[in-house]
Amino acid sequence: MTDDITKLARMNIQELQPYQSARRIGGEHGDIWLNANESPVSFQFKLKKKIFNRYPECQPRYLISSYADYVGIFPNQVLATRGADEGIELLIKAFCKPKKDAIIYCPPTYDMYKISAKIFDVIVKEIPTFQNTWKLDLLNIQSNLNQVKLIYICNPNNPTGNIISKQDLIFLLEITKNKSLIVIDEAYIEFSPKDSMVSYLKKYSNLVILRTMSKAFALAGIRCGFTLAQKNIIKILNKVISPYPISVPVSDIATQSLNINFIKLMESRVLDLNNNRIWLINKLKNISCVEKIFVSHANYLLVKFFMFEEIFKMLWDKGIILRNQNKKKNLEKCLRITIGTRLECSRLIEELKIFSKNNISKRGFNEK
Ligand code: PMP
Repeated sequence: MTDDITKLARMNIQELQPYQSARRIGGEHGDIWLNANESPVSFQFKLKKKIFNRYPECQPRYLISSYADYVGIFPNQVLATRGADEGIELLIKAFCKPKKDAIIYCPPTYDMYKISAKIFDVIVKEIPTFQNTWKLDLLNIQSNLNQVKLIYICNPNNPTGNIISKQDLIFLLEITKNKSLIVIDEAYIEFSPKDSMVSYLKKYSNLVILRTMSKAFALAGIRCGFTLAQKNIIKILNKVISPYPISVPVSDIATQSLNINFIKLMESRVLDLNNNRIWLINKLKNISCVEKIFVSHANYLLVKFFMFEEIFKMLWDKGIILRNQNKKKNLEKCLRITIGTRLECSRLIEELKIFSKNNISKRGFNEK
């Protein structure tokens, strides 16, 4: 008999279902990756710093001031992290007592809010959004605020693509004053900049915003994100962050990307992707295996398919990788498609057309 040394792990970790990241599930299979909401195109960078024997600054000054300028806030309102994912976790680490405090999250949404809370043995209150409109259940949230320190809201929401109205967010900020933090995950906000809540940071001390360089800035590979809040919250988070979270090459590349010319490039790429999304929607509308297309304000599209399982597998076999959402709350038969280049979108449409033609009149779909 062998001892099972893993029994030494905390029970909540033994029981934990870890995050199923796109790259963990899909590996490097296929040649058209539309499963992780990454940018389909990349830029080349030359490292300005080439000596690495010294530790970096914990919070690299130029990186912080560049991001603060980009957003229009003060540097002491910005914390740089290893992706937005680290921001999600630091907030729980700093604000929630294990087994006593709770977070609220509103599925279907990004799973890391729940998983990070579970890692820290913090209570998770799940308050689903209304099916198909994906609006927040505000009254249910209001009556469940006991012991809640953090409420995570993803805007635009992943994977549904909808926007939560400013009116609803302000309502939440008002009812939780001095009680809970409203954490708005704006990972995809560059695709719908008018919906950002950054201008409300001045007014609300309980507002926290998460940002990332992984999406519109096309830098998922370097792992760099930001947490924005009033300076006293940033000070608290700086107490719990690891000593050197941002490596020298990361701050070098991220700072270069925040120069005005790169920001303009990023914005023109966002325009292209938003146009590709419109193009893709128009094509999908004419394909018979498509049951429903949800409105999206981000670089992905949630689509309900007849025969979704066969479609997912057929595309996988052809090297086109989507994200299966079927097991998520209220997302039966849904696949999420990251918006790729026009060529990648065309390849997807061609395969779906062929599939539809070959399967017409099966399982309830007819010619459109
Ligand atoms: N928030 C949302 C809504 C996301 O979709 C993701 C990544 N898929 C993240 C945060 C994490 O982003 P990062 O790469 O900055 O850790």
